[in-house]
Amino acid sequence: MMNMSNSLVWFRRDLRAFDHAALHRALTSSNRVYCVFVYDSDILDRLPRDDRRVRFIHASLASLDAELRRLGGFLIVRQGRPLEVIPALATELGVDAVLVCTDYEPDAVERDARMKDRLGADGRTFQSCKDQVIFEQDEVLTLAKGPFSVFTPYKNAWLKRLAAMPETLAAYPVDPYAQAFAPPPGPPALPSLADIGFEAGEPPLPAGMEGAEELFERFVSHMADYGRARDFPAEDGTSRLSTHLRFGTTSIRHLVRTARQMAENGAGGAGAPVWLSELIWRDFYSMILARNPQLVTQSFKPAFDVLAWESGDEAEELFAAWCEGRTGYPLVDAAMAQLNRTGFMHNRLRMVTASFLTKDLGIDWRRGERYFALKLNDYELASNNGGWQWAASTGCDAQPWFRIFNPVAQSQRFDAHGEFIREWVPALERLSSKEIHAPWLVDTGVLADKGVVLGRDYPMPVVDHDVARKRTLERFAVVKKASS
Ligand SMILES: Cc1cc2nc3c(=O)[nH]c(=O)nc-3n(C[C@H](O)[C@H](O)[C@H](O)COP(=O)(O)OP(=O)(O)OC[C@H]3O[C@@H](n4cnc5c(N)ncnc54)[C@H](O)[C@@H]3O)c2cc1C
Repeated sequence: MMNMSNSLVWFRRDLRAFDHAALHRALTSSNRVYCVFVYDSDILDRLPRDDRRVRFIHASLASLDAELRRLGGFLIVRQGRPLEVIPALATELGVDAVLVCTDYEPDAVERDARMKDRLGADGRTFQSCKDQVIFEQDEVLTLAKGPFSVFTPYKNAWLKRLAAMPETLAAYPVDPYAQAFAPPPGPPALPSLADIGFEAGEPPLPAGMEGAEELFERFVSHMADYGRARDFPAEDGTSRLSTHLRFGTTSIRHLVRTARQMAENGAGGAGAPVWLSELIWRDFYSMILARNPQLVTQSFKPAFDVLAWESGDEAEELFAAWCEGRTGYPLVDAAMAQLNRTGFMHNRLRMVTASFLTKDLGIDWRRGERYFALKLNDYELASNNGGWQWAASTGCDAQPWFRIFNPVAQSQRFDAHGEFIREWVPALERLSSKEIHAPWLVDTGVLADKGVVLGRDYPMPVVDHDVARKRTLERFAVVKKASS
């Protein structure tokens, strides 16, 4: 490896100071290492001033700076366009190289290519290290050396490759090489939320490396039950680590290593392999998007782009009802309330609400995908796009178009006692476990005794599921041939 004298590690979605590929490479090959994070003004300008993710990033940067300082370094924080800020900072610091952890999103790939050119013109190198995934888009291939488009064979090949190359999970240590950090010029001076133009406020979940570890430790204690508990939104059955994975406050290698060990030594029971499988879905969707950047706007199966989605005033009203959680279907409304108020939505409910928008309301998956992008704390283009195209049946290995979730049956099955609905739709609090899934089927007198008048306290259903189902089957008939 080239011996660089000074280097700059540019943090993006890798906000931690342990097991960090770019930091490790910089520290082991440079005399002096600087660290920077740039609040990208092009992204920030589009966000609401109380954006929860900005609060999460802000709190995570404080944690990152504190850890870097403990190690002898510090974090430089700037605001602006990275393509201007990074080359200027590289000149100011006199570094020979800028190192990053690879970002696979199409916009990021384009930005990084331009960054490489710009730094190259100044005589500097730009080095990108795999860090965010276990295997990149060209590392897990079919026997014919092509890409997979179905998850299960991909997962089997992924597991086989990992078994053959266990060193893939080795950590990239930082501590032993800390003497290469450029020392801090003074006490911590990170910008406040107000300094970057945002309202002050708490992050939506414990942030930073400590926040991630706290959640992981809690999850590890009940990982064994994950296979069963993961489908029930009223239970604390999943890890809630998605936001940490999104911003890299935890390391995917650390999580996979632990899940594998727990699967092997039995401590993770039946849950550990199921959870590992979810982490593989993340690599799968990252691979799919990296290989198919057109998916940002197009269906994975091009034949599905001929679908005529609903439009016009009525569709707009239905879309607004979905966004605001007033569809009259309690589980859908509870899920949207959870999303709108917290920025999180349980996986089962992402499937239910995405299916409802596309199959019950006939609205283009791209609109739902954009709404989730605006609201989710863990918003991640590859997984969000993959999840939406799965639900809309337009994606790779998607839900078949003729299989349409029944929102009432989903509610009866996954929130049988209505606990989740009661938490998020208090108007229905007094309804029994039987009544709560479809209030319009309950006698109006019984409802009134429980304080509910439909249309006043809680909406009538905006569509009839059976009618909507038939309309969806007709809509998808145009692609029947292409997909069979
Ligand atoms: C319509 C739709 C949209 C989605 N949008 C996103 C998104 O923007 N960002 C996101 O991280 N996940 C997304 N998912 C996947 C999944 O819902 C979330 O990762 C999960 O709910 C996060 O909760 P958790 O961390 O407790 O997950 P756990 O059940 O504990 O899973 C562990 C981790 O595995 C990964 N994972 C789990 N399920 C999936 C999956 N189906 N696809 C890819 N990775 C997965 C996540 O990184 C998650 O944190 C979406 C799913 C659907 C159906």
